[in-house]
Formats: sequence, C-alpha cells, structure tokens
Amino acid sequence: MRYVVIGNPVAHSRSPQIHSAFAAQFGLADFQYERLLLPVDGFTEGLCRFVADGGGGCNVTLPFKEEAWRCCDRLSERARAAQAVNTIRVEPNGKLYGDNTDGAGLVADLLRHVSLAGKRILLLGAGGAARGVILPLAAEKPAEIVIANRTAAKAQELAQAFSGQAGVPLSGMDFDAVSGAFDVVVNATSASIGGNALPLPAGVFAPGALAYDMYYSADETAFLQQARESGAAIRLDGLGMLVGQAAEAFFLWTGFRPEVAPVLAELRTSLQGGTK
Ligand code: NDP
Repeated sequence: MRYVVIGNPVAHSRSPQIHSAFAAQFGLADFQYERLLLPVDGFTEGLCRFVADGGGGCNVTLPFKEEAWRCCDRLSERARAAQAVNTIRVEPNGKLYGDNTDGAGLVADLLRHVSLAGKRILLLGAGGAARGVILPLAAEKPAEIVIANRTAAKAQELAQAFSGQAGVPLSGMDFDAVSGAFDVVVNATSASIGGNALPLPAGVFAPGALAYDMYYSADETAFLQQARESGAAIRLDGLGMLVGQAAEAFFLWTGFRPEVAPVLAELRTSLQGGTK
C-alpha cells in the first residue's frame, strides 16, 4: 500500500501527516505515504515509474493537476468537470482512475457549520480551485452562485460553462459588479498568499454570513481579516478543506471513511506551533 503526494515544490505538503493519521484510525500498519518531488517537465514519466514500482495511488498538487487530468485513463464526473485531478487510484489492471476531491472537501467543511440550501453564495476567483468547487456547491441547492474575479471574462466563462449542469442560477462578473448581500462568501483566489485583501463592494457579507478562505496559514489570512472587519460572523480557512479532500482520497484508495475532526485538530495545533 504505497501512496505519494506528487508536486513541485512538495516539501511543505501536510498530506503525509494527514494520511498517516487516517491510516492509524484503522490500524493499517502497511499503509505508506510519502512526498514525491518531480521536475516540472517530468510528471508523466515520474508517475509511470511510481506505478511500475507497485504504487497504489497518489495525490497530485501544484503544478500538476491539469497534466494528471490529461493522463488518466478514466475520470470521475467531478474530475471531468474540474478539468483537474488531485487524486489518482491505480486500478488492478494498471490503468489510472482520476478523481477531484477538492470540492467535496470544501463542501463537507462548510456543511459542518451551515446548510447551503437556499443560500446566496459568492465565489471569488476563477482559477483551478474555483472551477473544481462549482458543481459540488451547486449540488447543495443554493439559491444562486455568483462568481466574481479580477479578470471578469474568466468568471463569465466559468458561469457559462457550468450553467447547463449546475441546476441553480450562475453568473460571472468583476468584483465591482457584485451587488447585494451573501450568506456564504468563498475566497478561491490566491490573493491571501501575498497578504492582499480583495476590492469587494461594501455590504457583500449578509448578517451572520460565513466567510471561507481556501488559503490557510497560522495567522488570520488577509481575506478573513477583511471579512471580520466587514461583519462576517463565521470565518474559516482552508485547512478543513485540505483534510476533507484527503479523507475522500483515502476512502477512494482504501474503502475506509476516516474521521476528519481529530486530524483537523491535530493539524491546526501543529500549524500554529510551526512544527510541520
Ligand atoms: P489559480 O492560479 O488557478 O487561480 C488564482 C485565482 O486567484 C485567479 O482567479 C486569479 O485572478 C486570482 N488572483 C490571484 N491574485 C489575485 C489578487 N491579488 N487579487 C485578486 N485576485 C487574484 O490558483 P488555484 O485556483 O489553484 O488556487 C487558489 C487558492 O486556493 C490558493 O490560495 C490555493 O492555496 C487555494 N487552494 C486550497 C486548497 C485547500 O485544500 N485548502 C485546495 C486548492 C487550492 P485572475 O484570473 O484575474 O488572474
């Protein structure tokens, strides 16, 4: 049972800690999970080598999620929609099954705090992470999803691409064009990485709103600080999404559904202590 997380860089990845904790929940002593650094132009070759050496599956992180999507033999519906793969399972015949568990991880984390049914959701960003969460969010039957992005055309393209499948009203626009108040505001931009707040109109956070930043850090992120100052009642970073997407991957590989809460608590402690 050999599994890896493939990325470049990958030294910072917390996935080994998460998956070891999941394996311990079920006493899977032979479950091995490591980091695999591959050159930016060497993903497919490295993956083939890992499979030939008997690897059972992998997680895929930046910058390889799109390449992974292209090189899988079979895809889940959600990976096809996301056009990105973050989890690969090696089938007994050596074929690669690609999935995308990021959206399920986000939705599971949100549902621990609020119901999404009938809510107005504002999704900020139109990159790979935003694309992967639109259908999982839509499946919870919100009243509508508004996608806002610095480059408005990308938000409009995403809204158009998913409007047929989403089953809920979807629209895409510039940050300036966002109007009204939202119950749930999800930051899927990478602005917090650089410590940048977003140019959101006043009043986007409804009373009692939940603000979610997919980025996570030991300190309050720029977006969550902005959300707190704008009155958002519940503020969460993406650590829960990270553990949630890992739980889905672990289930795909092993058939065991791990408990997320204790692993999330352990990870939060180590993030704040700066130990991992
Ligand atoms: P991409 O590079 O694909 O997309 C980046 C997005 O952020 C684009 O919409 C871009 O806008 C926008 N953006 C970047 N900088 C700024 C800025 N200064 N102001 C406004 N908008 C900005 O990245 P991903 O979609 O892969 O990742 C987005 C975030 O989600 C990252 O922070 C990442 O760490 C996080 N993430 C977290 C996960 C988790 O498990 N917690 C999983 C996956 C991602 P434009 O189109 O105009 O360039």
